[in-house]
Amino acid sequence: MKLLLSVALSAILGSPFTAAADGWKAGVAKVKITPERPMWMSGYAARTRPAEGTMIDLWAKALVLEDPAGRRAALVTMDLVGIPRDLSVAVCGAIETKYGLSRPQIMLAVSHTHCGPVVGRNLPMYFLDDAERQRVDAYAAALEQKLVAVVGEAIEHIAPCSLAWGNGQATFAVNRRNNKEADVPGLRERGLLAGPVDHDVPVLSVRDGQRRLMAVVFGYACHATVLDFYQWSGDYPGFAQAALEESHPGLTALFWAGCGGDQNPVPRREPALAQQYGQKLAQAVDRVLAGVMHPIEENLTASYHEIELPFAALPTREELQQQAASGNKYEAARARQLLSQVDAGKPLSPTYPYPVQVWRLGREVRLVALGGEVVVDYAVRLKADLGRGRTWVAAYTNDVMAYIPSRRVLAEGGYEGGGAMVYYGLPTIWAPDVEELIVKQVHEQINDARAPGSPTR
Ligand SMILES: [Zn+2]
Repeated sequence: MKLLLSVALSAILGSPFTAAADGWKAGVAKVKITPERPMWMSGYAARTRPAEGTMIDLWAKALVLEDPAGRRAALVTMDLVGIPRDLSVAVCGAIETKYGLSRPQIMLAVSHTHCGPVVGRNLPMYFLDDAERQRVDAYAAALEQKLVAVVGEAIEHIAPCSLAWGNGQATFAVNRRNNKEADVPGLRERGLLAGPVDHDVPVLSVRDGQRRLMAVVFGYACHATVLDFYQWSGDYPGFAQAALEESHPGLTALFWAGCGGDQNPVPRREPALAQQYGQKLAQAVDRVLAGVMHPIEENLTASYHEIELPFAALPTREELQQQAASGNKYEAARARQLLSQVDAGKPLSPTYPYPVQVWRLGREVRLVALGGEVVVDYAVRLKADLGRGRTWVAAYTNDVMAYIPSRRVLAEGGYEGGGAMVYYGLPTIWAPDVEELIVKQVHEQINDARAPGSPTR
């Protein structure tokens, strides 16, 4: 099927057919990013001490794709809770300098595991002493180098391959705003769970010239919050990737988190459950791999743009001073931080530079990558707009600066609607039009990729 398609395309283009020259190429590499010494864990503000051991190792993985025109794209996935903007900017700058990939060609994604380390200034909700702060900074500096190097290694491994896509399903994600955690087992049994979910498991397979699986990329829209203990762990996505790599020798499995800002795996908190959900996800991927997958035409486009995402009315200096005296230590710490910024002559910005990225693989697959902890409404809406199945919506990419509520969730309020902003150190809640601005930007990038002269028309 793939061969016929390649032959047909070469015939149309009038070029001599060779599999190596006309097909996709890809390279993959991975590097361990488990902290080498005890340091502070991220995910939960209530953490009281550094990590005490390792349940499963944390990894950063890179998949570099190249189409026959030589256009490349590098996906980097990480078993981490999030990455701050400054790390993303530094890593992408270094990759551009060293390997010539421009910003749209680089996608940085995390699994949002809550049993990974604090990453630089991401989620600045911890009260760390100087020694802990130094460990955090040293980890971020080492991570930056590892991420650049792993992309370089993947580039070195580039070889002919074929790509295919499909979608599976896994049902353990629950809308955590619409269901009480304690009620979930009974409600699930009776099919009465409330609220929107996205149970799709998008799968991209990469097979080498001998049709052996070299890499599989998959996503799922659900918080990696089964575990809240003091062991390094990739949580359910870590177990899913490990299960796939174990059952397919030579395979590298890369996970990206979808729009699961308001989704939890329930029930949770038991290590066996993290393993169980990981198995369920790996089985969903395996079912797709074993079925009929759609071959992906050999062309690639990538776009990236940061939009100025507006906050609601910024706090005045007086309001910040009041907050600094608050009995809520997180609110007080954020206010002190913002006051010191203002005092240093840097006024609060009314907007945040929010990253929106779109990759198009072949004629059909559109991988939309959004920054932050995006709620599920975005995936539901974008898939309805752009076509379910072929539209994949990754979140937690390129910069995890905050929760990203839809208009509905923002109006409803609560943790994802605005309450979590304090933990991210941002001055206030988002303005009501953030959903429209983000969706409009996605549509603009999709339409640009269809412009005359574009290879993906
Ligand atoms: Zn979260």
